[in-house]
This record gives sequence, structure tokens and C-alpha cells, in this order.
Amino acid sequence: MRHIAIIGSGPAGYYTAEAAQKQWGDDVRVDIFDMLPVPYGLIRTGVAPDHQSIKGVSRRYEATALSENVRFVGNVMIGKDVSVAELQNLYDAVVLATGAPHDRKLDLPGENLANVYGSAAFVGWYNGHPMFADLDPDLSGQTAVVIGMGNVALDVARILAKTSEEFAGSDIVAHALNILQTSKLRRIVVLGRRGPHQIMMTPKELGELMHLSRAAPRVDPADLPEEGEDALLEPGLRKSVNHLRSFAAIPESHYADTPIEIEFDFFASPRAILGTDKVEGIEVERTVVEAGRAIGTGETYTIPASLVVACIGYQTSRIPGVPFDERAGRFPNDEGRILPGLYCVGWARRGPSGTIGTNRPDGFGVVAKIAEDIGSGAGKRGRSGFDELAEARALKVVTFRDWKRIEAEEEARARDGAPREKFVDVDAMIKARGQ
Ligand code: NAP
Repeated sequence: MRHIAIIGSGPAGYYTAEAAQKQWGDDVRVDIFDMLPVPYGLIRTGVAPDHQSIKGVSRRYEATALSENVRFVGNVMIGKDVSVAELQNLYDAVVLATGAPHDRKLDLPGENLANVYGSAAFVGWYNGHPMFADLDPDLSGQTAVVIGMGNVALDVARILAKTSEEFAGSDIVAHALNILQTSKLRRIVVLGRRGPHQIMMTPKELGELMHLSRAAPRVDPADLPEEGEDALLEPGLRKSVNHLRSFAAIPESHYADTPIEIEFDFFASPRAILGTDKVEGIEVERTVVEAGRAIGTGETYTIPASLVVACIGYQTSRIPGVPFDERAGRFPNDEGRILPGLYCVGWARRGPSGTIGTNRPDGFGVVAKIAEDIGSGAGKRGRSGFDELAEARALKVVTFRDWKRIEAEEEARARDGAPREKFVDVDAMIKARGQ
């Protein structure tokens, strides 16, 4: 028998469990740990609440979770309640599937002013992550600046622009919806330090900006390269740039009837966040792109803004006793191997890029390495050993069955048309499991 511990119950964790099942059938026992009492990580607290079809992938993880040889062990913080070394004593392989839940820093003056957030915090807020539930952003000003030209920046801009009616059918949490309803924002500036040919946004997500009820995207035609140059782009990026071209072709008259503009500001690198206590603006330097790199021109200007959300990428959580690559913001590894018996997968392995599906081959890849390394297992104790430890420490472990009770409660308290109203507080989640 092989015993595998997976830390993190997001996509990378569940695809790794699925791969372990495919590899060893009934000859493996997999425990999937999560610090929260609820599973699915990024699917629950990262994927935008109005992208329910993407969140639907959790049904596939549920099929894995419900099989006999896979177990969800929620509400256990590895590195605090139980150490990685203790898990390594009990399991043949410990796989860190912890994702990249922390914001990369802008490293700019003024970054700590009030109403300046990183996307992990801001997205966590509107998605009901217990760590960020009380963020309470102030949306009473007219202009928000969203830094970054990736899909997370698009998510944030779109969520800020939508009306309450447009959240029908979403699982945006009540505390966020209430604040968004009071929003006075009129201008959402999406700031990119490079140009239209260097965006990281994907076509489907960009296309959504054309269908917002009270907002429209704005692109300055002068920022776009000659159309012929698009031919050199890979097809996905070319489609995205086509969207930018159609935004640039929106007639000026259209904006007269549009309360909110989502303005793309290219060749604009943030230099400082301005304000005394709270953000009042952002100083930006014009850039030119040379050999793919943004070079400052020395010309600066200020965008008045009362909210700044930096969507510039994420890093992995450190775990005591595990080496960490500071610069890359993830665990140093060789194709998933960190140290003997210790592995990483998904964003914790390769950094925060790619789609949810990218984690599937990742999970299968790391299981292939584990199979090479552990043979038929070293006779470790696995889950029975963990259960003893949990009892001795009086850990309040949450099982998958407990989660299904929490989920039923969340579904029961959903507002009309919404799939669920999430609990945003760990104690409330524990209470909802009904024990
Ligand atoms: P991303 O795609 O890597 O984009 C990050 C953006 O931040 C880039 O435009 C980057 O510009 C910019 N940036 C980085 N450092 C900066 C700085 N110091 N100043 C100004 N700009 C800076 O990251 P992401 O948007 O966080 O997305 C992470 C992953 O999740 C991506 O693979 C994304 O596609 C995926 N995702 C997918 C969806 C979806 O499919 N619906 C939704 C959300 C996220 P440079 O290029 O110039 O570095």
C-alpha cells in the first residue's frame, strides 16, 4: 500500500489525487489536506463568481473525493497544526499543491495606503475567502486603477463594472454585492506597462467586456500597432488583439450613454501610489517597448484614483521546513521533486500561469515521478497515523461528508437564482457541519 498526502484541495491537488487513483487503483490511500474546512481552493475563492461554468469543474473533483481511497482532511493547517516532517514520517509522498495565494508586491512608494489592494485580497473578498472577508473596500470615488493586463485584471475590472442584475446566477458573496451596489465608480483604468501585443488576456474573457450593461471598454486607436503586425502573433493573442481593435472602433457617441468606462492605458508603468492616508492617485511613467521590454521614457503623469487593485501575479505560501525560491515565489523543484519524499505540483511548482486544465497533466506528471521513487510503499502508517496525531492534538478535522453538510447549508441560504451563499467565516463553516 502507498500512502500519499496532498496539501491543498484546489485543482492541482485533486488532479494529483485522480492521477494517483489511475496509477495504483486500490493500492493507494490519498489524504487531501486543506487549511479551510471547505475544499476546491482556487475554484471556490479564485475563479470569478460570475464564471459558474468554470467553477463546475469541481463536480469532477467531487467524483474523486467520494471514492473510497481518497479522503478530504479539512481545517488542518500544515506547518502549524502538523508539520511537513511529521507527514513525511507517515506518508510515502507529501505533495504540496498549495497554489499561489499571496500577492506579489508592487514595491512602490505608497503601496500600503488605504484602498490599495492586491488581487489575492480583492478577489478573495468578493469570493468570500475567510482571510479577506472583512476587506471592506471603499467604492465611493469615481476612478479605480487596475494594474496588470492579465485575466485577473479583467476579472476585477468586470466585477467592478457589473450591475447587481448582472450578478444573477453568480455566487458573489452578499458582503461584496452590498458594497458593489453602492459603487460610484465611473472610470476603471486598466494599466499595462507594455503594449497591446504584450497583453496576457485571453479572447473569451476580453470579449465579455462588450456585453456589460452599464460599462464599455475604451482603447485609444493610437496605441495599436499597424494591423499587419498582428499576423506575427500566435492565434490566441491575435484574437485578443482583434478585440482591442474592436474596442478602439467603438464610436465616441456610445460612451455618452455608458455610465462606466473601462479604459485601457497601455505603455504606462506605475511609479508611485499617491495620497496621505488613503490612495488619491497613481503616478505613472510612459514607456516604449523595445525587444519586448518596457523602457521608461521619463515622461510621467498622474491618474487621480480612489481605489487601486494590483493584479500583477501571485506567489506560493512558505511552509516551515520547506525550501523556498524567493525570486520565483514558489518551491524550488526538479519536475516536481523538492526533496526525497516531498513534491510540489501546479502553481506551487511552476508559478501562477496557465489554465485550470494545465494542472491535470501536472498532477499526472508528479504522480509518475512518485511512482518511480516509492515503488510499492515503505510500510508507512498513512491515515491511521494521522488520525492518532489529530486526536492527540484535538484538531477539529472536517471530512468530505461534513463539507457536504456545509455545502447544503450554503445552498439553502442562497439568494434567489444564486447557486449558494458561502460562509465566509471558519467558525460559521464548522458550525454548519452540524456537530
Ligand atoms: P498574468 O497573466 O501573469 O498577468 C499579470 C500582468 O501583470 C501582466 O500584464 C504583467 O505585465 C503585469 N505586471 C506584472 N508585474 C507588474 C508590475 N510590477 N507593474 C505593472 N504591471 C505588472 O497573471 P494573472 O492575471 O494574475 O493570471 C494568473 C493566471 O491565471 C494566468 O494564467 C491567467 O490566464 C489565469 N486566469 C485565467 C482566468 C480565466 O481563464 N478566466 C481568470 C483569471 C486568471 P508584463 O507582461 O509586462 O510582465
